[in-house]
Amino acid sequence: MTVMDDSDDVLPDAQSAKVFYGKYEPKEVLGRGVSSTVRRCVDKESGVEYAVKIIDISEADHGSDIKESTHREIEVLRMVQGHPYVIELHDVFESETHIFLVFELLRQGELFDYLTTVVTLSEKKTKHIMKQLLEALLHVHDKSVVHRDVKPENILLDDNLDIKLTDFGFARILRPGEELYDLVGTPGYLAPELLRANMVETAPGYRFEVDTWACGVVMYTLLVGCPPFWHRKQMVMLRNIMEGKYTFGSPEWDDVTDAPKDLIGRLLTVDPARRITVREALAHPFFHRVTDFPSCVIVPPEAVKELPPRQARERPFSGRRTFRLAINCVRAAVRIQRLKFTPEALSVSVAVLDPYRLKSLRKIIDACAFRVYGHWVKKAEGQNRAMLFENIPRTDLRRTALVAAS
Ligand code: ADP
Ligand code: MG
Repeated sequence: MTVMDDSDDVLPDAQSAKVFYGKYEPKEVLGRGVSSTVRRCVDKESGVEYAVKIIDISEADHGSDIKESTHREIEVLRMVQGHPYVIELHDVFESETHIFLVFELLRQGELFDYLTTVVTLSEKKTKHIMKQLLEALLHVHDKSVVHRDVKPENILLDDNLDIKLTDFGFARILRPGEELYDLVGTPGYLAPELLRANMVETAPGYRFEVDTWACGVVMYTLLVGCPPFWHRKQMVMLRNIMEGKYTFGSPEWDDVTDAPKDLIGRLLTVDPARRITVREALAHPFFHRVTDFPSCVIVPPEAVKELPPRQARERPFSGRRTFRLAINCVRAAVRIQRLKFTPEALSVSVAVLDPYRLKSLRKIIDACAFRVYGHWVKKAEGQNRAMLFENIPRTDLRRTALVAAS
């Protein structure tokens, strides 16, 4: 149901807010934006829980701008409804001072917060999330909408780690052939063509491909915890983005297989015309590997030759021996399957000099750092979590340690 007062109507302001407060019981704050607050709320009649984004449009200076952009957000939200990985808008209320957007509630909150808790995601979980994100974008682009703010803060999770793409506040409907020039989004996720459209007078505008670039940034961040282009000086970061300068640095990328690196490389392609499309990305081998074991060879059926006739048995049948053989086969299969998860051998000398080189210690160090300093992570920037990974040893201290050890 939708209740929208005409903004020019003389209906008292409280009327519409009254309708909202009559129907829903607002609860605790789930998140905040520049001019909005998101709260959990409960439908008083059915007891069903929702999330309400309450937007303040009463500000003297920007009130009408915010109102206009919220109307655009509602228009876009209505266009993209009906996809399993896109947030569902349930209800809208508007008064002279506030707009209330009632959404389905995503209990697990932002992917950003989940990532801060777990530091990095496995390839399997990254595959699960990226596939859904790309499917959501395929649908959104299909409706001629470009999102322009794809980032882990705007990806919400449910209890099964399924995603919902949200926050269409920067989204735009693109007409055929139309190009955009405005500088909107979040610094670390901005595509090179969007930056160029703003910095170079003669540069062309940008289109849907900016969302595909942002997917590359998200995927990189999920796998190793820090974003690809982060730099303390924002200008350097923006230059790195425009030049597509990022690395799969060691040791954090050492254990990541080639398929996700290849897909990231194709998503983070500077030229939007050569960048992989959302549809192509969904067909990438990263999402279609038959097995997760790179050493496993799959033999095509035509290559299997007929086996020679079996030799006559020399030994009489023994149930015990056959049973033991079966057990050993199962054991071997289990061990091969778990090979990937077998802990690496820890070298004491490496652990003393450079504990960060060892994956198991690296995970512990990162998790501890996030637990202690996680509250420093400033959400509005989304980039500062990269600072928590800045634990490169000072050269002088490193030299002292080496001398002491020798
Ligand atoms: P803004 O435009 O201010 O960024 P968002 O729509 O992104 O607004 O919402 C801000 C935050 O509120 C989100 O990042 C998230 O933490 C929380 N939030 C928004 N919608 C929901 C929802 N449906 N369920 C749970 N949390 C939500
Ligand atoms: Mg947001």
